[in-house]
Amino acid sequence: MTAKILSGREIAEAIKREVAGEIENLPFRPCLAAVRVGDDAASAVYVGNKVKTSHELGLISEHVHLPAETSQDELLELVKNLNERDEVDGILVQLPLPPQIDEKTILEAINPEKDVDGFHPVNVGRLAQGQPSLAPCTPAGVIEILKRSGIKIAGENAVVIGRSNIVGKPMAMLLLKENATVTICHSRTKNLPEITSRADILIAAVGRAGFVRGEHIRQGATVIDVGINNVSDINFARELFDETEIEKRLKTIEKRGFTLVGDVNPREALEKAANFTPVPGGVGLLTVAMLMRNTLDAAKMRRRRN
Ligand code: NAP
Repeated sequence: MTAKILSGREIAEAIKREVAGEIENLPFRPCLAAVRVGDDAASAVYVGNKVKTSHELGLISEHVHLPAETSQDELLELVKNLNERDEVDGILVQLPLPPQIDEKTILEAINPEKDVDGFHPVNVGRLAQGQPSLAPCTPAGVIEILKRSGIKIAGENAVVIGRSNIVGKPMAMLLLKENATVTICHSRTKNLPEITSRADILIAAVGRAGFVRGEHIRQGATVIDVGINNVSDINFARELFDETEIEKRLKTIEKRGFTLVGDVNPREALEKAANFTPVPGGVGLLTVAMLMRNTLDAAKMRRRRN
């Protein structure tokens, strides 16, 4: 079997078009405030993408960049100010934060109504209770991929590998909300392949390149690869990619020093799965699109209430 590739590109573009269309018909423009502290290179790229996409879709976007030595109190003061400003609909504090700042304290200081990352305990609790809430963007994007690709979720066995607050746990909650039978696996799980190979829908959010192998995958399953890892080892890349892909990957390693790889071994997944999301070009593209969706939803919900 060669799996069908579930491309994130068209789905992300469709969501962005829908958001832009809705914004055009609103009497106001939703505003997203993106806060970055310090000079982490990856964070600069992520925030840059979020700001650029906001502009493209007609949102107002504020980008606040604070120096690496910013104190926790200074950042709390900024968050308080953004909470109070009525024209700000969404607040996003890019993680990771410098070591002198406690992430939990900052995330809990964000007004849950403006918490477009969906990390505030109020939104986490609402999601766990199956209530409408702002859900974390990456797992919410996975649900969009499944639904828009016509993959049945209700009643299916879904297995999530990973239990982080950002991906694994909210992923499991969202699948449960869609009436899947959900199993969560983690580093202490015994007999992992036995459990994952019962999955109709297998979600990998492990943070280890090519970790999910053929033995983990049921023949004909849908495999969603959330992982994003850099691989620079040419021999390892040869183990992961077949002849249709390897030359391109080796050129990328030569040019950039690494190639992006998910948490699933693509060569083995393509052989066993019925559907598979590529890396890059899969789940990663949905994250920013869902942030835009969350900002629009947060704006509509809060402004309707006020
Ligand atoms: P994380 O916080 O490091 O969590 C990894 C999870 O994997 C943990 O729950 C861990 O279990 C589990 N795990 C580690 N080794 C395992 C093993 N041998 N067997 C079973 N489970 C194991 O990572 P994360 O933030 O959830 O991210 C996961 C992946 O998604 C990463 O590759 C990350 O780069 C990617 N990601 C992508 C996006 C996107 O936009 N596409 C967004 C966020 C993250 P324990 O809890 O027991 O330690």
